[in-house]
Amino acid sequence: MGTDDTLAPPVLRAPAEWACVDFISDLHLQPSEPATVRAWRQYLADTRAGAVFILGDLFEAWVGDDAALAPGFAAFCAQVLREAAARRPLFFLHGNRDFLVGEQLARQCGFTLLADPTTLAFGPRRWLLSHGDALCLADQDYLRFRAQVRTPQWIQAFLRQPLAEREAVARQLRDASLARHAVTTEYADVDTALARQWLQAAGAQALVHGHTHRPAEHDLGDGLRRIVLADWEPEATPPRGEVLRLWADGRMERLPLPAQG
Ligand code: MN
Repeated sequence: MGTDDTLAPPVLRAPAEWACVDFISDLHLQPSEPATVRAWRQYLADTRAGAVFILGDLFEAWVGDDAALAPGFAAFCAQVLREAAARRPLFFLHGNRDFLVGEQLARQCGFTLLADPTTLAFGPRRWLLSHGDALCLADQDYLRFRAQVRTPQWIQAFLRQPLAEREAVARQLRDASLARHAVTTEYADVDTALARQWLQAAGAQALVHGHTHRPAEHDLGDGLRRIVLADWEPEATPPRGEVLRLWADGRMERLPLPAQG
């Protein structure tokens, strides 16, 4: 993971008909949390945004697009994505949990996969979109793991295994992550110097990312900003989750999740 690959991130130009766009991330959808799934589905049905950008960790785990071919949770989520993409452009950028979402699912559902990072040219400004995990430089163990599993060789070898074995690996990784978090109180955050570097390379003024579950807006100096999305857990106390809506004139609002009937 160097900086060369971010020198010229791809640019997505918003068409003039998009009055506003929505960003969501870190829903960590899983069968054991149906309230989050309901809120997500309701939000996608209700939103009036010109486009929806999912900035990673939509799923708690994704072990391959073939999981959506058999009836079950993955197939249900694919159907929700398909319905959403039929209503408005839908974009998906990988998180650390769902980096195996592939072109097969994108075609099946009609959404567009984005590189991390991607520059969004919207109105007069440029916004740099990322999941954010690659910017958390202090988490060296994770970055080593990331470098290993994001190679085409690793991905091809993993996807060749039977679905049940891949699901077992995902459970092991999840248990290891939970165990590590149980003894950790300090989580890595986005590195300011690297975020500034990415922004300057992209000619963007604001970075929009998830991953850290610490919704905020940070001033990075020189007119640069870092805008962090919230994770979703509508049944937590207090409930968590929101949609970040961006208007073409640069106005930004954080919308609460739809009320559950
Ligand atoms: Mn993440």
